[in-house]
Amino acid sequence: MSDTLVSIHTLSALDDAQRKALLQRTESDLSAFIDKVNPIIEAVRIDGDAALADFARQFDKAQVAADQLRATTEEFSAARASIDPELITTLEFAAGNIRHFHEKQMPETLVLHETHRGVLVGDRWNAIDSVACYVPRGKGSFPSSVLMTAIPAKVAGVRKVVIITPPGPDGTVDPATLVAAEIAGVSDVFKCGGAQAIAAVAFGTQTVPKCDKVVGPGSPWVVAAKKQLSSLIDPGSPAGPSELIIFSDGSVPAELVALDLCVESEHGPDSSVFFVTDNADFANAVASCVPALWSRMGNIRAQYSKTVLSGPRGGIVIARTRADALAFVNDYAPEHLAVLADNAWQYLACFEHAGEILLGPHSAISVANFVLGPSHVLPTGGAAKTTSPLSVFDFLKRTSIASLSKEAYGGFAAHAERLARYEGFDGHANAVSTIRDEALRSAAGAS
Ligand code: NAD
Repeated sequence: MSDTLVSIHTLSALDDAQRKALLQRTESDLSAFIDKVNPIIEAVRIDGDAALADFARQFDKAQVAADQLRATTEEFSAARASIDPELITTLEFAAGNIRHFHEKQMPETLVLHETHRGVLVGDRWNAIDSVACYVPRGKGSFPSSVLMTAIPAKVAGVRKVVIITPPGPDGTVDPATLVAAEIAGVSDVFKCGGAQAIAAVAFGTQTVPKCDKVVGPGSPWVVAAKKQLSSLIDPGSPAGPSELIIFSDGSVPAELVALDLCVESEHGPDSSVFFVTDNADFANAVASCVPALWSRMGNIRAQYSKTVLSGPRGGIVIARTRADALAFVNDYAPEHLAVLADNAWQYLACFEHAGEILLGPHSAISVANFVLGPSHVLPTGGAAKTTSPLSVFDFLKRTSIASLSKEAYGGFAAHAERLARYEGFDGHANAVSTIRDEALRSAAGAS
């Protein structure tokens, strides 16, 4: 049994500064990483593939020659042969669910409304040209992240989808990551990770293509590089260290809450994971269940979970009232929110800000993270206040479409001319004045 105790934060005992500190994430302060990623970015800009090979040696302890950064067909085949066929079945099951969910999400390509007789206005949706999916491989391997990023991109119709992922110490890509890429229909997988991988797709190197956008979760090195390169490549929504809030009114067994506390906290010491409740007795029961679960996890995962749940960015938040508990969750705007209550649906309307809300004791975070369908790439760091989970909309853009008939034009021109004259735009005004009418009449006469 562990001596480590789960942190208990009593909300009513905190002053404003302490409450604010509880809302902080590790990624809130990237300054230490920004200074260090700048030279990495510069090296990739200047030396391209050679810099990627150097950084693979330095940070991933991997020997990857500068001309072997792209995974070969032989590597894809070897990966498929090396992994358990049942794992392939599971990857295919997950891929099917993810594809299905995102296909349902696709909007009509062209949506038009007739706002006046003869006036058609609307939106046309089409895909961006190219995207890089970052698949982490520091504290673990994430074939599920391949499926959760590349499949929505493919469903949206992105023509060029590539994967960037750190090489393992033997210089190869994680085999399940390669198989997941194949299942997602991606054949361009590049062995580079961290800030150098983001720089590679922002600038393009001899091997790695320049992309319009980069998506996917990653360590603060990845997040810092995306920030620095945001004028060259669309960095998508932030998806930094994992975070979870569990809310419960105490109507489920305490062990369920304890089990889910150990889910996101095992990602790494930089995760943020809280159980929020107004039921102090239940909170204590949950706290006492956690150490037994740590003893059933591998050493490294248990250590990460202990670091998070016993530290300042994790543990149990006890609120004086239900309203205070719900307000804390909304202020936090967590990446994942699990509502563990018998009648979980009754709380849905109370939560305004979260990347994902899982309702009820059977809607396990682990199911959602791996195989359910919605992407597990969700806004972190409070970004759920203004942004949404990764979806087909991250890979689509809208173009406004408009068309006026001859008859409809007459009802708009004078208004446009008046406003244009007021704003001092003579060219605009002339273009909808009698000069246009004459030009249109002469064109009609000529035809
Ligand atoms: P990672 O691939 O993001 O980071 C590892 C890379 O960081 C290395 O390849 C290396 O290039 C670079 N790096 C490491 N140490 C460095 C140093 N000292 N200097 C410069 N570069 C260095 O993998 P990770 O570390 O496992 O991080 C994955 C993150 O993604 C975790 O924080 C996890 O919580 C998060 N995650 C989030 C989601 C989500 O949906 N939000 C999903 C999965 C994972």
